[in-house]
Amino acid sequence: MTTALRAQPGIMDIALYQGGASKIVGQTDPLKLSSNENPFGSSPVVAEAIREAATALHRYPSTDHTALRAAIADVHGLDAERIICGVGSDEVLTLLAMAFAGPGDEVLYTEHGFSLYRIFALSAGATPVVAPERDRRVDVDALIERITPATRLIYIANPGNPTGTALDLPELTRLADAVPQDCLLVLDGAYAEFYDSYDGGAALVTARENVVMTRTFSKLYGLGGLRVGWGYATQHVIDVLNRIRGPFNMSVLALAGATAAMKDRGFVEMCLRENAQQRARLIGGLRQLGIACDESHANFVMARFADETTALAADAHLKAAGILVRLVKGYGFPEALRITVGSAVDVTRVLEALASFQEAS
Ligand code: PMP
Repeated sequence: MTTALRAQPGIMDIALYQGGASKIVGQTDPLKLSSNENPFGSSPVVAEAIREAATALHRYPSTDHTALRAAIADVHGLDAERIICGVGSDEVLTLLAMAFAGPGDEVLYTEHGFSLYRIFALSAGATPVVAPERDRRVDVDALIERITPATRLIYIANPGNPTGTALDLPELTRLADAVPQDCLLVLDGAYAEFYDSYDGGAALVTARENVVMTRTFSKLYGLGGLRVGWGYATQHVIDVLNRIRGPFNMSVLALAGATAAMKDRGFVEMCLRENAQQRARLIGGLRQLGIACDESHANFVMARFADETTALAADAHLKAAGILVRLVKGYGFPEALRITVGSAVDVTRVLEALASFQEAS
């Protein structure tokens, strides 16, 4: 089809984001371990808060998200004035690119980084630049080598998706030290809470002008469907982002639900405990079956098979057993499957299905 309506440069180079599958043909209720969702759902106080908020849907939501920012600041010991809330952390990550990168600028991220980073760069009209990783880990030296005077933004997922590996604080600090003052280092902490004794980079953000941290309610809080994320940065960066975001970006329901979720620390602690236990069980079980798997600091693990054919066969075997996991060829790992850490029962089911796959092959 020909059209006179031309999209901005870069936009037609974007391939549509492919989410984790949610259905298996011919099966009604699959065990969904494909999108790193919380196996325990969300805290019961969330639905209660949403029901209450739903009695006044004719009212516009708060434009400044004061209650949610206060709850986040209280739990994390942060300055509420330096927090921005977004429609998922996606929104905060994309606002950063829109505000700080444009045509002629470079946006840097790593080989196996989150697939949306490329989309954020291209939609801002900037040029995506990819640094290689080493042994499925972010390679700080390779990133530093690719920083040029045109680099405006660096995205790092820590822990990484789909690898689950993470840089420790000395490595992050070494990277931050090498980033020029006119370039933002964005620490995407979608899985930060699952990484023991990691603050998501909050201390680095506090110490430096050009480091930003993003977080989400989609993983640990089990609220992927509500679409709430947030960022922490200097007042200047937050001020810039607030100027370009939609004034009513967060719905009344999202604000009420996320505020209640943040305050229910008991639910969060239970989920963290379970995740740590079941992640160790899953990794141990996979290795016992002869399936390679790195230590993970997230709520998923990446299981590596001999080659792509074996990974596809394992995926088909899991599907036949009613289990959905994620093929991560699009992230550069055709030989691997990313498996969300489920409940104890879920992990048993996955390990049993993979044991029968290994026996049969
Ligand atoms: N960053 C990473 C590394 C992710 O894996 C995801 C979700 N898959 C996100 C950011 C975005 O999450 P959300 O928009 O749901 O907060």
